[in-house]
Amino acid sequence: MTLQRTFTIIKPDAVKKHAIGDIIEQFEKNGFRILAMKMLEISKHQAEQFYAVHVNRPFFSSLTDFMSSGPIVALALEKENAIADLRKLMGATNPAQAEEGTIRKKWATNIEYNAIHGSDAEDTARFELSFFFAGYELAI
Ligand code: GDP
Repeated sequence: MTLQRTFTIIKPDAVKKHAIGDIIEQFEKNGFRILAMKMLEISKHQAEQFYAVHVNRPFFSSLTDFMSSGPIVALALEKENAIADLRKLMGATNPAQAEEGTIRKKWATNIEYNAIHGSDAEDTARFELSFFFAGYELAI
């Protein structure tokens, strides 16, 4: 199996709950290598660009308000089967349905304030990684 890259965001709700350290520890304990990491705030406009795929969803405005409401931590991660394995570690979008031991079960407040983002496919991972990181920012 070859190494795969994925992209994740520790969302503003999890940053406010002081969950950054715990979530990063879970990445490392579960075999993800951190290739890049940055803490930043994004504007409403940047959140709209990042979530453009959701433009027609009823929660688009609320989601982009939330994602621009405070600091986030963006990371590029690498491991075998990284995309699917991160989705598993994150848990279901709605924390009420998230399995025990997942990041969302532990840290999410509700279906919107759900602590973490993770790419859902290879094409979205490529788009999302390049949205937040330039090639030179990734560790080899
Ligand atoms: P994900 O891939 O598990 O993050 O879920 P989606 O791609 O379907 O949705 C993107 C993000 O939009 C989620 O992580 C939530 O923050 C938010 N979201 C998803 N579904 C809902 C919803 O039904 N209501 C609200 N308010 N937010 C939602």
